[in-house]
Amino acid sequence: MTETVTNWAGNITYTAKELHRPHSVNALLNLVAGSRRVRVLGSGHSFNEIAEPGEDGVLLSLDALPAEIDVDTAARTVRVGGGVRYAELAREVHRHGLALPNMASLPHISVAGSVATGTHGSGVGNGPLASSVRAVEIVVADGSTGRFTRGVGNRFGAVVTSLGALGVVTALTLDLEPAFEVEQHVFTEMPLAGLDQAGFETIMSAAYSVSLFTDWRAPGFRQVWLKRRTDQPLPDFPWAAPAAEKMHPVPGMPAVNCTEQFGVPGPWHERLPHFRAEFTPSSGAELQSEYLMPRESAVAMLHALDGIRETVAPVLQTCEVRTVAADDQWLSPSYGRDTVAVHFTWVEDTQAVLPVVRRVEEALAPFDPRPHWGKVFTAPAAELRARYPRMHDFHTAARDLDPRGKFTNTFVREVLVD
Ligand SMILES: Cc1cc2nc3c(=O)[nH]c(=O)nc-3n(C[C@H](O)[C@H](O)[C@H](O)COP(=O)(O)OP(=O)(O)OC[C@H]3O[C@@H](n4cnc5c(N)ncnc54)[C@H](O)[C@@H]3O)c2cc1C
Repeated sequence: MTETVTNWAGNITYTAKELHRPHSVNALLNLVAGSRRVRVLGSGHSFNEIAEPGEDGVLLSLDALPAEIDVDTAARTVRVGGGVRYAELAREVHRHGLALPNMASLPHISVAGSVATGTHGSGVGNGPLASSVRAVEIVVADGSTGRFTRGVGNRFGAVVTSLGALGVVTALTLDLEPAFEVEQHVFTEMPLAGLDQAGFETIMSAAYSVSLFTDWRAPGFRQVWLKRRTDQPLPDFPWAAPAAEKMHPVPGMPAVNCTEQFGVPGPWHERLPHFRAEFTPSSGAELQSEYLMPRESAVAMLHALDGIRETVAPVLQTCEVRTVAADDQWLSPSYGRDTVAVHFTWVEDTQAVLPVVRRVEEALAPFDPRPHWGKVFTAPAAELRARYPRMHDFHTAARDLDPRGKFTNTFVREVLVD
């Protein structure tokens, strides 16, 4: 069977002419053992060639495997299959009175694919989504299976945020906490002028999760989204005025697809993402880039972007500023440092966007930016390698687990070359 397989945004068409969908773990093991090169496609929400298997490679989806979600209420953990998406996982976890600590803006993304790229939400105290992972079950190159557990052995730092380069993740075990409620409060028009680093820290700490949005058509932020846990104090927010109507992060887009605002309390999984799980995004008319930098450079970095806003604004739909707490996955863009993340939702025109991405990367260069692994970037591999102090250890783990590079592709090879 020949099919055209693309990513969600449609800017990448994979060279593989077929998406293999094994129906059982045995079929999966045989497929891996019998193939020369393999890459897994999660929900396809990345914007670059990270999942591309190459012409002689097999592209594999786990979406036909049974969607396992086993909650252990006593241990407060969930074991989740490698093809499951956050929306399904969150509903089931919530049904058991439990919660994940954080979610990304869109709940439709797969859990394994998200943690493989270091995907994150916001919050000064919230690590990336991978921080919740306590065990990884993986099919390695010879078709055998392995299990890696946090705190056991010396490979755990490699196997969660792995860029899909170590094997097929068939299940993850995640830590949970008691379910909580969140209110979402949106404010508008917060100036950049006068904002110092202490002020930035105060604003980003004003609630459990805080996002700033701008279109860079003027200095400052068009919107500020506070996601407050109802078991934490309600902050004063004197820096901007409350929104008078429900907002979408992209000016002019219908807010009906966004999660509830105006301080209406609701379950964690219906407030932490910006977009509703019931809303089905088809292919996305957008591209995305994101850079993660040390949090202490946030205000200097925002001024650097303000300096090029006339270049950025014409191809920008929205720009979001978030924070991520340091974590310890070796290839995580927030590895070892409390982070400010600046995200760009671009128009869907690659030719127009790429020169602007390069310009943004030049402006951000003094701040040691690590690009999001799943988004558009142009930074050369040598620069990326220099930004990850444990890159060599990851490389060693990859060589040990996958000596012939079955799970390697051009994207990964470029990053991993020592
Ligand atoms: C609308 C939208 C909103 C987004 N919001 C956010 C956000 O809020 N925060 C953020 O940080 N990012 C965000 N992203 C980026 C997104 O989270 C990442 O691109 C993430 O990797 C998507 O997961 P996926 O399953 O679609 O991954 P894919 O693109 O399918 O795959 C990504 C990588 O994971 C690997 N992989 C997937 N499944 C497995 C598996 N079972 N075993 C081994 N490897 C596997 C693939 O081989 C590939 O290398 C967003 C993207 C979109 C389109």
